[in-house]
Amino acid sequence: RGKRAFVAGVADDNGYGWAIAKSLAAAGAEILVGTWVPVLNIFETSLRRGKFDESRVLPDGSVMEISKVYPLDAVYDNPDDVPEDVKTNKRYAGSSKWTVQEVAESVKQDFGSIDILVHSLANGPEVTKPLLETSRRGYLAAISASSYSYVSLLKHFVPIMNPGGSSISLTYIASERIIPGYGGGMSSAKAALESDTRVLAFEAGRKNKIRVNAISAGPLRSRAAKAIGFIDMMIEYSLANAPLQKELSADEVGNTAAFLASPLASAITGAVIYVDNGLNAMGVGV
Ligand code: NAD
Repeated sequence: RGKRAFVAGVADDNGYGWAIAKSLAAAGAEILVGTWVPVLNIFETSLRRGKFDESRVLPDGSVMEISKVYPLDAVYDNPDDVPEDVKTNKRYAGSSKWTVQEVAESVKQDFGSIDILVHSLANGPEVTKPLLETSRRGYLAAISASSYSYVSLLKHFVPIMNPGGSSISLTYIASERIIPGYGGGMSSAKAALESDTRVLAFEAGRKNKIRVNAISAGPLRSRAAKAIGFIDMMIEYSLANAPLQKELSADEVGNTAAFLASPLASAITGAVIYVDNGLNAMGVGV
């Protein structure tokens, strides 16, 4: 039987989630995606109208099929958590069962189990503000959407993951080095995500034989990255300073995720793997 993957955080064909889904599909996995509720409609419409058809083509000429798109809002664990104004918001009212627990239940009902879980989502409402100007609410929102969302996903999906399964999240070097402009508590959220990767690797490894790793990715012009406002500068900086002077393609991150999810990586867990053309290894820019 082929493997089945749930990729959380796909809403267009520009981000890492899409590229990871493609690499996993190219390696033979069945693909399920979780899409943020407010952008579900536009994603499904674009998918249906063939807007992504060109980028669905895999290296062997076949086309990536997405077995099912699940609405998901990873800042809510179950219906009791959802505030009234969100419940009645018209972008949310059109969908149902989009809290993390409900999505895991739906996937279990529809498919029984999964082998690969990918967390490719983040949100920091105050990301453009320096940390010193970030509000408590903004900081906690960044942690909730970008770090706890992963704890919650694993908590609810591990019970339906087959032993030997693999989980991957996406992080950024701003967790460990100063990257001015990556504000709003997002640097803190990535630091938490990386620390949690180790603890979750221990817990899910001992209990369920599941591996947990993170990819520290270089800059990509995704929708989320454009919202931060400095992505072009970061891409230029990397081009100028990294050991490998080429633009990073999302596929290179996708392929690393496919490797980490495969038996080739059977002894790798609790790791943060850089996929950044080597920029992390530089001490000074030259
Ligand atoms: P992206 O816009 O393709 O992906 C982010 C996704 O998160 C979007 O689809 C968005 O709808 C979704 N999302 C936001 N809040 C959500 C919520 N509450 N529930 C469910 N989904 C939610 O952008 P991306 O840059 O590919 O981001 C994917 C991951 O890669 C993120 O963790 C990001 O921090 C990380 N990353 C990105 C870069 C980069 O330069 N783009 C670099 C390193 C790491």
